[in-house]
Amino acid sequence: MHYVGMNDEHGHSPQEISKRLSKGQRPGHLKDMIYGGIDGAVTTFAIVAGIEGAGLSHVNIVALGVANIIADGFSMAASNYSGTKAKFDERKRIIKIEERHIALHPEGELEGLRQILLMRGLSGAVLEEATTAIAQSKDNWIGLMLTDEYGLANVEPEPMRAALTTFAAFIVAGSVPLVPFVLRLEHAFAISVFATLMTFFLIGTGKSFWSLSKGWHSGSVTLLIGGVAALLTYIVGGLFHPA
Ligand SMILES: [Zn+2]
Repeated sequence: MHYVGMNDEHGHSPQEISKRLSKGQRPGHLKDMIYGGIDGAVTTFAIVAGIEGAGLSHVNIVALGVANIIADGFSMAASNYSGTKAKFDERKRIIKIEERHIALHPEGELEGLRQILLMRGLSGAVLEEATTAIAQSKDNWIGLMLTDEYGLANVEPEPMRAALTTFAAFIVAGSVPLVPFVLRLEHAFAISVFATLMTFFLIGTGKSFWSLSKGWHSGSVTLLIGGVAALLTYIVGGLFHPA
């Protein structure tokens, strides 16, 4: 039997489905990677373009670029950590609250569960049976409240992983504009511009895995945004160019 069509994103046989579901849900970190990567490439390239535009020595580029990667990368990672930690805490807090409600007002919470399932399309005897069955497991019960009552994803956010992913992506993408200067290549600035634009394109292509948009489209959009940011800093740097 053929379950996988040409354009399907994953298999649909019972075995494939069961394997996929048994892995459990984990928060994805592609978004953390993309934000860190774009910001790393933009801010480091801004320094490169600013210094080049102002006609300053290339020695400054490497020193300031590396300082940016460490400082700005850390700051990006730290703010991603606190943002993700806030989500983590909110989820924990809601679980505690609803555990207390279930202990104090079991009838009311059971009715809440019943109405959630009603909105999901169950009715009659099936609705009553499903309500009773799901209420057997407090995890399943509260899990449904998280998604259907609070609009949260039923996955535990991972603040540390999110932060480390952002930092790593920032360092990798942020290093690209500097490499031609570290290697003291001829035409270092032109190579840096080209490599940075390619980095934007690659990040944009990676973004398409998460947004399901077409790779080249997503790549071109990110290339355009990064290119404009880079051009702006080059122009601003040029304002300070000694005549
Ligand atoms: Zn409640």
